[in-house]
Amino acid sequence: MNLLHSTQTVIKEALEKLGYQEAMYELLKEPLRVLTVRIPVRMDNGEVKVFTGYRSQHNDAVGPAKGGIRFHPDVTEDEVKALSIWMSLKAGIVDLPYGGGKGGIICDPREMSFRELERLSRGYVRAISQIVGPTKDIPAPDVFTNSQIMAWMMDEYSRIREFDSPGFITGKPIALGGSHGRETATAKGVTICIREAAKRRGIKLEGARVVVQGFGNAGSYLSKFMHDAGAKVVGISDAYGALYDPNGLDIDYLLDRRDSFGTVTKLFTNTISNKELLELECDILVPAAIENQITAQNAHNIKAQIVVEAANGPTTLEATKILTERGILLVPDVLASSGGVTVSYFEWVQNNQGYYWSEEEVIEKLEKVLVKAFENVYSLAQTRRVDMRLAAYMVGVRKMAEASRFRGWV
Ligand code: GLU
Repeated sequence: MNLLHSTQTVIKEALEKLGYQEAMYELLKEPLRVLTVRIPVRMDNGEVKVFTGYRSQHNDAVGPAKGGIRFHPDVTEDEVKALSIWMSLKAGIVDLPYGGGKGGIICDPREMSFRELERLSRGYVRAISQIVGPTKDIPAPDVFTNSQIMAWMMDEYSRIREFDSPGFITGKPIALGGSHGRETATAKGVTICIREAAKRRGIKLEGARVVVQGFGNAGSYLSKFMHDAGAKVVGISDAYGALYDPNGLDIDYLLDRRDSFGTVTKLFTNTISNKELLELECDILVPAAIENQITAQNAHNIKAQIVVEAANGPTTLEATKILTERGILLVPDVLASSGGVTVSYFEWVQNNQGYYWSEEEVIEKLEKVLVKAFENVYSLAQTRRVDMRLAAYMVGVRKMAEASRFRGWV
């Protein structure tokens, strides 16, 4: 089942449980609009290469669409659509005044120069400029995009509109109106969810064994936060392999040696595979890399008591069922990874009011939002006797369904 299809399955179930008619599902099962663009880029060797990009806007009944832009060779239209639906759900779960959006470009930034990336980023903004904007759809970073790319995009958009538009995009460098705490926000949010989940399961973070798959923005900062909280990070991985040490890895050293794409295992010879990593003996497992990592094939072999999804879509629906039946507490992506968009919202608010907050203020507000979101989802899962994913979808879909109904769309 592809990501879009499995998301639709859960949306349908969530709407049924909430008592909505079929028409609401018809509205919410697909994005309201998806734009496909072709972006010609002059490469450093003088030749022109034409890239394909997408921007999907799932729903804007609650407020403007919001969500990241992914640069990756495996981007597909269906994936971008599914990711935009998840952004709507995240906004609902942490109660932000947004709908969901997502963008992607089929490219491999690891093979491109700095200037080629700049031309591609600017070209993408020119191509989608008609449908985005600070009150329409606000992009942000995602897989393999960063604050520099956001800066180029903000500059390009401001040139097109002929006024400075910091609120067009979030995840910017601090010097251009970025927010303190945005860089580490996704990992902070995951950390809060781990802490809350561990509390419910009576697991002490101090000394707990943690395995993190992926060493990108979320995975690397998360490993650091877990390490600082006294947990033992026994396994980490990147796209090329994994490292394991039952006594705990030297996270500070690994952070120091990782490249900007999160690659670090190439420096070692005694690696294990990503497949082996997921099945390691541990208390807490955090898939923080890519989709479809925990499936019906390996769900029976997962040893962790808690699985917290920092990546988007790492566990299939079949695997969700198996883990839940085995009594493993699964904290779903739409809840666990919502720290990023929460601080993106704070960034946008600060841009709109032109008044900037301290890092402490941002973290304090993030903490409040996520603790409440976790409790809402967890208690709904308990009272309705459903798994955490379905509970998160029920919480996430409610406001946009209500807003769509009040607007008279359904
Ligand atoms: N790309 C991130 C996500 O998937 C952040 C989106 C945002 O900050 O708008 O949640």
